[in-house]
Amino acid sequence: MRIVTVVGNRPQFVKAAAVSRPLRARHEEILVHTGQHHDDALSAVFFRELDLPRPDHELRLGGGTNLAQTARMIAELEPLVRGVGAVDAVLVYGDTNTTLGASLVAADLQIPLVHVEAGMRSYDRRMPEERNRVVCDHLSSLLLVPTAAATENLRREGLTERVVDVGDVMTDVTAMVHPRARERAPEWLAAHDLRPGGYRLATVHRAGNVDTPDRLAATVDTLVAVASEDLPLVLPLHPRTAARLVEFDLDARLRSAPGVRLVDPVGPMDFATLLVGAETVLTDSGGVQKEAYLAGVRCVTLRDTTEWTETVDVGWNQLVDLDPAAARAAVARPRPADRPALYGDGRAGQRVVEAIERMVAAD
Ligand code: UDP
Repeated sequence: MRIVTVVGNRPQFVKAAAVSRPLRARHEEILVHTGQHHDDALSAVFFRELDLPRPDHELRLGGGTNLAQTARMIAELEPLVRGVGAVDAVLVYGDTNTTLGASLVAADLQIPLVHVEAGMRSYDRRMPEERNRVVCDHLSSLLLVPTAAATENLRREGLTERVVDVGDVMTDVTAMVHPRARERAPEWLAAHDLRPGGYRLATVHRAGNVDTPDRLAATVDTLVAVASEDLPLVLPLHPRTAARLVEFDLDARLRSAPGVRLVDPVGPMDFATLLVGAETVLTDSGGVQKEAYLAGVRCVTLRDTTEWTETVDVGWNQLVDLDPAAARAAVARPRPADRPALYGDGRAGQRVVEAIERMVAAD
């Protein structure tokens, strides 16, 4: 088979790390990087540390509004994919502008579209990610879902054909990265003046939390509420958030709060090391909620919806939106005793390849 994979940002590099290797063991993969994230901290370090193949095509399509960026993706991906010649499928991950752009191109060129992490829903159409997922799922020829809940979400939208539950590709990556993170954590944390279980970790970058002064002020207040000198809060700052903090004059308020430690975004190995040692994770990221669960670290989600509802159902994740008092209450709660395996067995990448093989053979 000949597969064109299109990735563009941080969470997609992580997911591709589970699939590229088993795919390339038997087939040809042409890897296209749209450049939605293109700097070292959000892109190159992931390729290095997760041992991803070098992209065959690297575009520079970052920046601009969602619509302008998606329009540029479509305009550049169409001739690129046409130029590749005969391909069996276009493979996309998750819910970004890259996912949407590549989906529209595959659909227009009548190339089967394969969506990894299909069926996730927050049911909040204000989120660009939600709109991207819905459109991509409805254009896909093969919907590869991570959970039974995702299958059910698709069924409610009438999508029942060619849905395959492969498990979660991020479980594969966690199984590769977390053992090494645990091994290096004692020394690495000590070198950064942190103790295992003696700090909290936060990430925040969703447009809905950082793109307006009111919401960003509430984000800052919520983060400050769970930081203290005794239990500092380590916050690797996404460039989008860093820019808005300066723009809305909130940078000093966050930076000067007791116990808040702002750092640049870190690579996947350092992030996993921070995660496995954290007392609690606070995040508005989809991927980080799940990684926290897989690591056995309690998560407090700075949103009022989540796609990863199972983590909430089993008591390891709590949605507090941007409410400082609710966040403080959430970090005071005891941890649940049980942590069932919700996200597959770490062999999702292999199943993705097999499902694509079956689809191509059937066509
Ligand atoms: N991540 C990282 N360094 C950081 C913050 C996050 O390596 O400083 C990783 C994290 O482990 C996860 C992914 O980036 O695998 C999540 O990306 P992000 O939160 O940007 O996207 P989302 O999952 O919300 O789509």
